[in-house]
Amino acid sequence: MITENTPIEQLVKLLSKLPGFGPRSARRSVLQLMKQRDSLMLPLAATLKYVAENIHHCSECGNLDNSSPCHICESQKRDRGTICVVEEVADLWAIERSHSYQGVYHVLGGTLSALDGRGPEQLRIDRLLARTQAGVHEVILATNATVDGQMTAHYIAERLKDRNIRISRLAHGIPVGGELDYLDEGTLGTAFQARLPAA
Ligand SMILES: [Zn+2]
Repeated sequence: MITENTPIEQLVKLLSKLPGFGPRSARRSVLQLMKQRDSLMLPLAATLKYVAENIHHCSECGNLDNSSPCHICESQKRDRGTICVVEEVADLWAIERSHSYQGVYHVLGGTLSALDGRGPEQLRIDRLLARTQAGVHEVILATNATVDGQMTAHYIAERLKDRNIRISRLAHGIPVGGELDYLDEGTLGTAFQARLPAA
């Protein structure tokens, strides 16, 4: 039986705080880690420490990487004239997995929310407006198909409407209430190709 405040119980408590983990799955994971001390637990601990100390948000787009600007912002293969606006880094990862997009990104860090009292100043919207000043010809609004996601897309489209930029949004295949991170790569790829004018 596990007694309180032992190092193992401490580890279980910390793991329980992760999304998708309850105390039960945390306990099972700890036991599995102990069984694979050299092949899993020690490499995991070292990688956690490395990531915690070396991975930061890109100053340009908000992506997570060990360099800032990140490897996507720096890549010569990417079209810097097209910016895809997403809510979270997980959405950026989902789009990258679909291999359907060659532009750059802008991670907002959430959505506007009347309910949670989150306004434009809490998101990276000013940085987006600054980035669209020069050389950007298209902004793709790829926020989630939720009420807050759509409200956020509408707000950004309004802020950009007087500039000479094509503003589009993902359409085909995104279910209502759908979150990008949960879509399969094919659906997301189709949604990119079938994007529509946002306003
Ligand atoms: Zn970046």
